[in-house]
Amino acid sequence: MIYCDTIIKGGIFVTMDPEFRILNQHFMVIDKGRIVNILNIDQLGKFQSKKLIDASGCLITPGFINTHSHMPMTYFRGLADDLPLDVWLNDYIWPLEAKMLTTDFIYDASLHSAAEMIKNGITLTNDMYFQKECIADACIKAGLRVIVSKAIIAPEYSGDGREFGEELQVFEALYKDQALVECSLAPHAIYTCSDDVYSSCARLAAEHGWLLHTHLSETQKELEDCLKVHGKRPLEYLASLGVLEARCTFAHGVWLSGKEMELMEGKMSAISLCTDSNLKLGNGIAPIKEMLKRKLNLSIGTDGVASNNNLDILEELSTTAKLHKAINHDPELLPAQDAFALITIDGARALGKEQELGSLETGKYADLLIIDIQNLQSQPLYNPYSQLVYAIGAEQIRDVMIAGDFVMKDRQLIYLDEAELIITAQAYQTKISQELKL
Ligand SMILES: [Zn+2]
Repeated sequence: MIYCDTIIKGGIFVTMDPEFRILNQHFMVIDKGRIVNILNIDQLGKFQSKKLIDASGCLITPGFINTHSHMPMTYFRGLADDLPLDVWLNDYIWPLEAKMLTTDFIYDASLHSAAEMIKNGITLTNDMYFQKECIADACIKAGLRVIVSKAIIAPEYSGDGREFGEELQVFEALYKDQALVECSLAPHAIYTCSDDVYSSCARLAAEHGWLLHTHLSETQKELEDCLKVHGKRPLEYLASLGVLEARCTFAHGVWLSGKEMELMEGKMSAISLCTDSNLKLGNGIAPIKEMLKRKLNLSIGTDGVASNNNLDILEELSTTAKLHKAINHDPELLPAQDAFALITIDGARALGKEQELGSLETGKYADLLIIDIQNLQSQPLYNPYSQLVYAIGAEQIRDVMIAGDFVMKDRQLIYLDEAELIITAQAYQTKISQELKL
């Protein structure tokens, strides 16, 4: 007899492994947080598990990977909609952040965001914000995997970045026993950070293996200002500062030219497509067709709730897939299987984590979803990818497991009290409304 922590049986395994295998009549063995194997059901008798999970009538998929978020902005949802990015940032978000941001605010909003992400099937988010310890603590409480960041806004900075590196090393030492937490360097954007910020972050990121997470080429204004100030397009400018020597997550990439995309070919760096945010802020549509042609690393980010306005990454994926078919008059562009990869294995690859996450394979972390398909909108089921991208809603996600541990079961969060989170959000709403005299 072979002993293990958990066995999941029944259901259809959508593995996202290199052969994109879809397995019926199989069961998954999980031990010490990792997938031991996915075997044919006739071998089940050899195993004894502490927990036996029945996933009949469900799909079992890898957890979703969100490559760009701002967790603490959750309490700004719907606060300043229908505005251009520069007005939205300068007149609303930044003044409000200057007044409202306390460590309690960041922790509470991140907790809310973590709960919302888990309910939407997100098992890892690559976050960009200040007070990374508060965000890390909230994610640890929720059981959510996270890459927090040393966010930097420093337009006048001149230095070698030593203090950025020291800060992250202190953080890593403090959180060394927290397997769910990692950190990155996150210069906010080219219009809020100096040359020295980017060149030192690039050097530190390459040296320490940290991710460099930044906004890039989000608006036409950013592109035009960059051409005016630096005489280069945004990615040409960043490449001249050595940024492409590191593994970067570039959020948005809406205004990238063919030449800029060529700079990314064969590099570790990835784009985080944030379609809903780009649409809502009127920033444009990323040139995905050409990105795909050039085999760039692509992934999906929800961006912050203040600009999205939700964390429903399945909806984000569905919109992205359909939008690009429509504008390119090409229904064959981004077929469902390739689209689903964007929030699973490609998301993992974008963050350099494809050896550990993003598919259901032996040795990888057991970060997975059990999605109920015994309902009208999921039947009949000919093709699970089609169902996942075009039909299934987040409310069908029944269970969420991260590192072998259920963080949601039967739609109930295990480590967080949803009712309490709602009351807390409403209390902050009152405070923010009073502050803004709404
Ligand atoms: Zn963003």
